[in-house]
Amino acid sequence: MVRFYKNAIVYIHTMPSITKNSTLKEYQQFVQTVYGLPNDLHFELQDLLNNVQRFAMRGLKGIRKKNQEKCLTNLLITSSFFMSTLNRLHIDIEDELWHRFPYICSYCARQPCQCKDSKPAQRKAITPDKAKKPNTIADFHIMFEKIYPSASRTLEHAGVHMAEEVGELVEAFLAYRGEHTKIHFNNVTLEAADLLSCFFGVLNSLSIQLNDALSDFYTNNCHVCHHAPCSCEYRFVINFKS
Ligand SMILES: [Zn+2]
Ligand SMILES: [Zn+2]
Repeated sequence: MVRFYKNAIVYIHTMPSITKNSTLKEYQQFVQTVYGLPNDLHFELQDLLNNVQRFAMRGLKGIRKKNQEKCLTNLLITSSFFMSTLNRLHIDIEDELWHRFPYICSYCARQPCQCKDSKPAQRKAITPDKAKKPNTIADFHIMFEKIYPSASRTLEHAGVHMAEEVGELVEAFLAYRGEHTKIHFNNVTLEAADLLSCFFGVLNSLSIQLNDALSDFYTNNCHVCHHAPCSCEYRFVINFKS
C-alpha cells in the first residue's frame, strides 16, 4: 500500500499541466510531452508549420466574424503547433522572445513603441536588462501591453500584423530549408519570436491571458482525447473542425 501511495504521488507530480502561473518554457515542455510523440510520427516539420498557418487563419476568421470563442480556440491550437515546430527545431522560445523584446520594441528600442511616429531605418542595438525579464506567461502579457498598448490599435490591426508574421516565419523557414546556414536558422528564430509577440498582442486586444486560456483548455492533457501522449488519430487531427 505504501508503495502504491508513493507511486501515486509521483504520478501526480509528473502529470503535465498548465496553470495560471506557468512559464513559456513549461508550456513548450507540456506540448512536447502531450504532442511530441504523435507529431513526430505524423508530421514533417513543414506540416507542423502548415498547421500553424491553418489554425492562425481560422483564428483570424473568428476575428472577422466577431466570434471570440472561435478565435481563441484556434489561436490556442495555433500556439500548440507553433510550440511543436519550435520543439522540432530545438528553439527555446522563452529566451529568444526575451532577447528580441527586452521590455522595449525590437525596432525602435522604446517602451511604448514609437515606430509609428518615426520608424527607424534599421533596428537599434539592444542590451537587455536581465532584472526585468518576465518570469511567467502572465508577466509576458504585462510586458507586451507596455511595449505595444492594445489601446493604440484595433483587434483587426493586431490580427493583420499576426498574419504578416506567420508569412514571414514561413518565408524564413523556406530560406533556411534551402540553405541550412546559421544565419538562416537565426532568422527563423527571430521570426518565431516576432510571431509570438503578435500572438500576445492579439490576446491583449481580446483582454485574454494565454495562461488563463491554456489552463482552461488543457485541464487534462490533450484537449480532445485527454491523453498524454495524445492518442487522437491522424485522420481526426487533419479533419479537425474548429
Ligand atoms: Zn517600435
Ligand atoms: Zn488527443
